[in-house]
Amino acid sequence: MSGSLFQLTVLGTRGSVPVCGRDYSVFGGNTSCYMVTAGEETIFLDAGSGLVNAPVSFSSTPVILLSHLHLDHIIGLGMYPRLSRKGMETRLYLPVDEEENALSLLNGLYSPPYWPLSLTDYAGSLEVNALKEPFTVGDVAIDWITGSHPGGSLVFRLRYRGKTLVYVTDYERDDASYEMLVSFARDADLLMVDGQYTTEEYPKRKGFGHSTPEIGIELKDRCNAKRLLLIHHDPGKTDRIMLLQEAILRRENVRFAREGEVYSI
Ligand SMILES: [Zn+2]
Ligand SMILES: [Zn+2]
Repeated sequence: MSGSLFQLTVLGTRGSVPVCGRDYSVFGGNTSCYMVTAGEETIFLDAGSGLVNAPVSFSSTPVILLSHLHLDHIIGLGMYPRLSRKGMETRLYLPVDEEENALSLLNGLYSPPYWPLSLTDYAGSLEVNALKEPFTVGDVAIDWITGSHPGGSLVFRLRYRGKTLVYVTDYERDDASYEMLVSFARDADLLMVDGQYTTEEYPKRKGFGHSTPEIGIELKDRCNAKRLLLIHHDPGKTDRIMLLQEAILRRENVRFAREGEVYSI
């Protein structure tokens, strides 16, 4: 693997709940999970149902970053095959104050009667950490700001060898956070933004914590990002609807993320 490789693999880009069937074959039905490869390092953005299809073996310990704890962002964790492999270690970071809280929060879902095992009962080892200070994974610098979403959600920035990826999932525009976001995402090479609702749908879903493709495009222009991937697709939007929506937007370097695709950063 090249030491300068910096790429994003889309494992799941659906919001709210997984969907399946022939109407979802283009954009995919798994919920939020993206695999970032940076040289020898692997960093997952969120652990939605897409994580179940992720590779298991890596040359260094993979890291999972959770933007927040809504079910669509953690539902893949319990079925990620790597957790069941003895001797394999995975590190996970989530936004809480203390490590103890971090593990118990996740085990609030991953324990009987909701799930047969707690996350410490798997054969592999999962190290659960609270996000406190910006940190590095190999040569990848990771930092974040707080976005705008019911219960909170983090916006992550990953920088590697002069290139920048910014991940803005589960984000509803408000004036204060938006201006912060513009400077945080300045000159991003790849910007990923929640585009769950159309501008027409948005007024009825105000307060649900999501944005529109137009908000993503405006953010791309304001922060001078090179490319925009629209993410967190609404589970009610079939391929036909989304292809139509994409054709109407018709903007250079703007695309709805498709499960299975790989993007160079
Ligand atoms: Zn979500
Ligand atoms: Zn959410």
